[in-house]
Amino acid sequence: MRIDLHSHTTVSDGTDTPDELLALARAIGLDVLGVTDHDTFDHLPAVRLAARREGIELLEGMELSCEFQGKSVHLLAYGMDPENADLLEEMALVRAGRTDRLALMLERLGELGVPVTEAEVMAQVGEAPSIGRPHVADAMVARGHVASRDQAFRDFLADDGPAYVPRYYVDLHAGIELIHAAGGLAIIAHPWGRSSREVLTEDVLTELVRTRGLDGFEVDHEDHDEADRARLRALADALDVLGTGASDHHGAGKPTMQLGCNLTAPPVYAELLRRLASRSTR
Ligand code: AMP
Ligand code: ZN
Ligand code: FE
Ligand code: FE
Repeated sequence: MRIDLHSHTTVSDGTDTPDELLALARAIGLDVLGVTDHDTFDHLPAVRLAARREGIELLEGMELSCEFQGKSVHLLAYGMDPENADLLEEMALVRAGRTDRLALMLERLGELGVPVTEAEVMAQVGEAPSIGRPHVADAMVARGHVASRDQAFRDFLADDGPAYVPRYYVDLHAGIELIHAAGGLAIIAHPWGRSSREVLTEDVLTELVRTRGLDGFEVDHEDHDEADRARLRALADALDVLGTGASDHHGAGKPTMQLGCNLTAPPVYAELLRRLASRSTR
C-alpha cells in the first residue's frame, strides 16, 4: 500500500489540476491520496470524480491556515463534513484575508523594484478561490524578476522577507475544535518546518494532544531531516497519535516535493480510518 496524505491542486497553490494530480497518483502507483488544498473545499467535487476514474482511494482533506503564539501553523483536516457551517465561515475569513493583503504586497514589491500587477497575479490564480504567495511568486517568475518560486520566497515573500504582509489566521486551538466539531481529524502539517518549529516544541505538541485532542502530526515530510523524523516518530508513538508521512506535492511549484516522496505507513492509515469512523458516529 502506497499512501500519500497531503497534496495540492490548482484549486489553491498547486500547479496540477485535480485530473492531472489523480492521473499522476495512478501513474506512480499510489493506492491512497489525501488532497488538502489551502482553506477551501472547492477541490472536492473534481478530485472525487478523478479518484473514482483512476481507481485511487481518496482521503478528503483541507489545510487550514492557523497561528499559534504569533507563528503560522498549518493544520490538516481529514474526513470532515465539508458542509459544516462554522468551519466554512472561518475558512471564508481566511480566504478574504488572502485576497485583502494582495494590494499591500504588490505595493511592497513595487517599492522593492520588482513590480507585478494584480492582473498578472490573477492570471496565475485562475479560478482558484484561495490566493497564495506562490501565485505572486509565479507572476514574478513570469516577469523574469526571479528564476523560481523558491527564489521569490527566499528574496521577497518569506515570513521574514521584505514583501511579507500578514493575513488572517485561525487560532490553532479554535481550528482543532472546528475540525473536530465537523467530524474530522486534526493533524499538524510539517510541525518542524520553518515557522512553526519555533513554537511547536515537544512539550507543546504533547499538551495539544492531551488537552485539545490533536490527532497527530506529520513526521515524514521534506521539511524534516532524519533527526527530526526520528524524534517526531518517537513522540507520536509515545503519545499514541498518528505520525503521518506525505509529499505536500505542489506540482512544478515545489520541484523537490514530488508526489509519493514521503508516504504514510499502512498501519497508521488504518488507525486514521478507525479514529475517523469513531469520530463521525459520535
Ligand atoms: P500563503 O498561503 O500565501 O501564506 O503562502 C504560503 C504557502 O507558500 C505555503 O503553504 C507553501 O505552499 C508555499 N511556500 C512556502 N515557502 C515556499 C518556498 N520556499 N517555495 C515555494 N513555495 C513555498
Ligand atoms: Zn501550498
Ligand atoms: Fe503547509
Ligand atoms: Fe501543504
